[in-house]
Amino acid sequence: MQKRIIIIGGGIVGSTAAFYLSQTDNHITLIDHGLGTATRAAAGIICPWLAQKKNKDWYRLTSTGAVFYRQLMADLTKAGVTDLPFKQTGTLGLKSRPELAEKVQAIAKERRQDTPTIGDIRLLEKEDVTDYLPALTPDNYGILLEGGGRVDGGKLIDLLQEQVLLNGGKLLKGQAFLQNEREVAFEGEILTADHIILAVGAWLPHILEPLGYQVDVRPQKGQLFELETDLDTDNWPVCMPYGEIDILPFEKGKVIIGATHEDDMGYDLTLDSDKIAAMKERSENFMPILAQYAVSKTRTGTRAYTSTYAPFYGQLADKPSLWVASGLGSSGLTNGPFIGWQIAQEIVEKPTHFDRSPYSPAPYIQPQ
Ligand SMILES: Cc1cc2nc3c(=O)[nH]c(=O)nc-3n(C[C@H](O)[C@H](O)[C@H](O)COP(=O)(O)OP(=O)(O)OC[C@H]3O[C@@H](n4cnc5c(N)ncnc54)[C@H](O)[C@@H]3O)c2cc1C
Repeated sequence: MQKRIIIIGGGIVGSTAAFYLSQTDNHITLIDHGLGTATRAAAGIICPWLAQKKNKDWYRLTSTGAVFYRQLMADLTKAGVTDLPFKQTGTLGLKSRPELAEKVQAIAKERRQDTPTIGDIRLLEKEDVTDYLPALTPDNYGILLEGGGRVDGGKLIDLLQEQVLLNGGKLLKGQAFLQNEREVAFEGEILTADHIILAVGAWLPHILEPLGYQVDVRPQKGQLFELETDLDTDNWPVCMPYGEIDILPFEKGKVIIGATHEDDMGYDLTLDSDKIAAMKERSENFMPILAQYAVSKTRTGTRAYTSTYAPFYGQLADKPSLWVASGLGSSGLTNGPFIGWQIAQEIVEKPTHFDRSPYSPAPYIQPQ
């Protein structure tokens, strides 16, 4: 029997779920407000394998998400997309001391036993780092992972949403309000559904609290900037220096640098030019040539965090037609597509072979 499925939120989670659901024989409606979308602001690093986080569940989900990018790109290619937004460029981590690079190398090697996508792992002396990224100063040791990559989040959700439309799904622009587990209010109308997916990122409290739930999700502001350079960036690896900045090369000289993690700014989206200037100065310590280029664009978005810093997704225990996903934090571009895919698969009752019980929404969404 055909199902009516409403997805609220057109970031990476909602757009991926809508894409896969639109390939089935069901009625799909994706509603997106478009304000503060973290996915459009995101830098685009897809490489959880250098992270030293101890949370094994986070790692398992996020590594699965990074590997899943290959499937998502293959599925977009099958759908006729030729200009893909994800590229495996390799990721270059920088460390000030050789023993720090060796420590990360050991972690990555162990992870590669289960995840061959990580590929070649290379430890680099200071003078060898510039062979891979000539703009860097030869002051740091490097660890290069072949399987790392980068994605243009805005382009990816545009492509996914285009496919939803081509497959006969509906795309509505504006704010939706949840009435109950099967009804959504949108521009004076009530839309009914067999399943509703709340993929609203940091805005989950806004949509669920009016229904009497307490939601453990808080907003975090993130800002970054772009440079249009005349450097040959096409084949540069993503660069992850230590400290709070990353340097991402895109095609045709575009370089993205960011991002801030601001916990005390709520849903604010205004630009803080002092913070942008501080990140620019810091990036120039690693790549002095970047000082020659002015900031060409800035982006601001709102990440969603839980009090445990862990993401959650799945059905609400007392309302199984209502699906949620939030708390993806600073790695949601990496694990978000997999989460969207898994929710879509489960709604159409297809197997996923991935145990999502460690990511249950129950601890984060309590009836008041
Ligand atoms: C500056 C920055 C840099 C980042 N860099 C990276 C990175 O390099 N790698 C990485 O893996 N992750 C990164 N992230 C994190 C990642 O972007 C997010 O975790 C991820 O995009 C979250 O996706 P989402 O679909 O859950 O939410 P979002 O992308 O925020 O989408 C939610 C959507 O729901 C809409 N919405 C909310 N309420 C309603 C409503 N009532 N009705 C209709 N629509 C509604 C919003 O407008 C929004 O469009 C970064 C984030 C930021 C901000």
